[in-house]
Amino acid sequence: MTTKSGGSTSADLQPVPECPLKYAAGDVIMRSRPWVYSLKVKHILTHCYRCMEKFPLDMKGNTKGRKCGGCACARYCSRKCQNADWKDRHKLECPVMKRATRDRLFDSKSFHGDLLLMYIKIQIKLMKGELEDGPGDCVPPTNRTFLHLLSHREKISETEEAIQLRTETFPQWRSLFEVVDPAGQTFRKNDGDEFLLEIFGKFRINSFGIMSPFKVGHSQYQVGYGIYLGPSVFDHSCDANATQFFDRTALVIRANRNISTLHDVRISYVSAWDSIIQRQAVLEKYCFQCTCALCQDEEIIAEQSAFKCGTDNCSMALPLNDRGRLPCEQCGRINDSELQVAIAVTKALREEYERLRREQPATSFKYLEYLQQLSGLAEKFLHPTNFLLGLFYSLTAPVLLKLKMKEEAFKCVCKAVLPMRSHLNKYDPALLSYLTHLAVWSLEFAPLNQVDYYANECLTQVEQLCGHDHPNSKELRKLAEHCQIATDMVHSL
Ligand SMILES: [Zn+2]
Ligand SMILES: [Zn+2]
Ligand SMILES: [Zn+2]
Ligand SMILES: [Zn+2]
Repeated sequence: MTTKSGGSTSADLQPVPECPLKYAAGDVIMRSRPWVYSLKVKHILTHCYRCMEKFPLDMKGNTKGRKCGGCACARYCSRKCQNADWKDRHKLECPVMKRATRDRLFDSKSFHGDLLLMYIKIQIKLMKGELEDGPGDCVPPTNRTFLHLLSHREKISETEEAIQLRTETFPQWRSLFEVVDPAGQTFRKNDGDEFLLEIFGKFRINSFGIMSPFKVGHSQYQVGYGIYLGPSVFDHSCDANATQFFDRTALVIRANRNISTLHDVRISYVSAWDSIIQRQAVLEKYCFQCTCALCQDEEIIAEQSAFKCGTDNCSMALPLNDRGRLPCEQCGRINDSELQVAIAVTKALREEYERLRREQPATSFKYLEYLQQLSGLAEKFLHPTNFLLGLFYSLTAPVLLKLKMKEEAFKCVCKAVLPMRSHLNKYDPALLSYLTHLAVWSLEFAPLNQVDYYANECLTQVEQLCGHDHPNSKELRKLAEHCQIATDMVHSL
């Protein structure tokens, strides 16, 4: 755990008296409300602009949000959310949103609507002089202010993205502000490109994607963005020892293993359940190259790329390097030729994986057939705990679901979970999401004892992460109890 990003300085984390020095797995390390946050533009019609809850659908399948009378754009779940938002921030941004909606600017990609909504909220905070967290916003409190956040402006200044921002996006924003706020009372019209790029850099490097609530049997998606001053101090490692979790808009960071000091806490800015190339590509946006063991340690990478022993029924996982040539510990076979084949298969599969992630083909039976062909071939040579093989199952499962092949998806996720269990920490959000899906689906597709097994496996993890009283824990407990009753009934017949 030696990875450091340039994103923060540990001097910002002054020892806080009530802050414990040691954390056990499951302990809350920090709980923070966002300094600013915003809903993603694409969710504005379906989610509350304040609390980001999804609106329920009415009988006709329409959503039931309360529309803001000013911009007719922001929608709220309740009067309470609407009033709070108006007072706090929306009053000032409403005219901008009104004009942008009228001129259909949010539809244009070069307009960067999500960035604009965050920018406006940051401006409002700066205007009010609120540079730091309010009392109780972050527990334990830190002395971080918005000014502490790094932007890496010099590094990003010459990127294609920055050039596009300067030539297209910022001029569009300025003319919009000019129209809605000619006196420049809210928006500092004279802010130059450098200032806007500085804000953009801070947003890019420090913002967290706020995820939809974690619910048993549902997939999570990003609902918005938030800047959290306290948590922004934690550096990245793909092999993180702490897991971030959202409780509505609040960010909760918990230890996923024992940690000796606050300074050793690492969170992952990327999903650990992806290839090294994909993870590095995302981290590049943070101007950061990861040197964690999962990215750099060749022995670990060889173990993650395990191949099968050539003896029928031998379950040995052999590392994909010279150690794989040693006599199999289980059966004594020397797997020279198997290693050669596994190296070739891995290379071909990896290239295909990267291509598919880049191109993101649309869901179709043809695409499904192709994915199944690839994983079918790989299954012959690679071990069931192979990371790359697992990533292929992860690509396949959502395609099966979209094509309404739920039972096949269940089997596919069962296979994906094996490598996830082997290589991810047990609180990994991707693993947890899959486990809760399995717990629910296994009711339909698996023997009862398997349901019980999945339900209990994720129950212990969810209880640690969300607490015993959380609806997810209650739901999983109920599921496990139902299975128990059903199993008892079967046995008593
Ligand atoms: Zn609300
Ligand atoms: Zn409005
Ligand atoms: Zn890494
Ligand atoms: Zn063997």
